[in-house]
Amino acid sequence: NERLTVQSEKLKIAGELAAGMAHEIRNPMTVISGFTQMMVKDTQSPYHAYATIINDEINRIDLIIEEFLILSKPHLMIKEPFALEAIVEEVCALMQESFLQQHVQSHITYEPNCPKIIGNKNQLKQVFVNIIKNAMEAMEQQVHKQLNITIKETAKREIAVIIEDNGEGISPDILAHIYEPFFTTKVSGTGLGMIISNKIMREHHGYITIDTTVNKGTTITLTFPIL
Ligand code: ADP
Ligand code: MG
Repeated sequence: NERLTVQSEKLKIAGELAAGMAHEIRNPMTVISGFTQMMVKDTQSPYHAYATIINDEINRIDLIIEEFLILSKPHLMIKEPFALEAIVEEVCALMQESFLQQHVQSHITYEPNCPKIIGNKNQLKQVFVNIIKNAMEAMEQQVHKQLNITIKETAKREIAVIIEDNGEGISPDILAHIYEPFFTTKVSGTGLGMIISNKIMREHHGYITIDTTVNKGTTITLTFPIL
């Protein structure tokens, strides 16, 4: 038991060090990014194409750091009661533009006056964005892209947000790894979306379930206790 305490203390310190380092990396990155953007704007430069690549890669490092910080930060959790459907609607409104661009048909269903849950809105928005982005990325190859979101009360005083895509699905050997940090099957994925979402769901006493069939699609259910 004592050994476990030492172990988790060590992990905590390692996490804090890594988070500190991530912050420190951001400062020189900002300087590099500033000059690179100047080079990107100079279309006459023989290095213009390289500058664009450097810029894309800087943005990628930035995304990894941002997601990593979300994961390691012992964020203070301000929780308040709210309606899940309001947050889901908000996230979908934010993503409307990318639905249009990528020809994704989206459909949201819920009963009026769903019971409220208690939680941190910003963190839960992050979870919905992560899951919906994954759904969209999984449908990239489909001709008809259908994203269905249903919010409903379960029989066990819980409320479920069900996010269904008709994308490529997840094979069992991949499914076994999707909560591992940095595990990704995408060329430019960070592999942090699922682990972040899982962490936030646990902090809300909720859980994630996945139902998937290769070449048919994936249904991700986020279940929350009702307050
Ligand atoms: P990333 O999206 O950066 O790859 P995530 O942690 O969000 O990282 O997801 C990890 C992996 O889980 C993805 O690379 C993908 O293989 C798989 N995955 C997650 N959601 C879906 C989905 N809806 N359909 C198919 N595969 C998925
Ligand atoms: Mg993702």
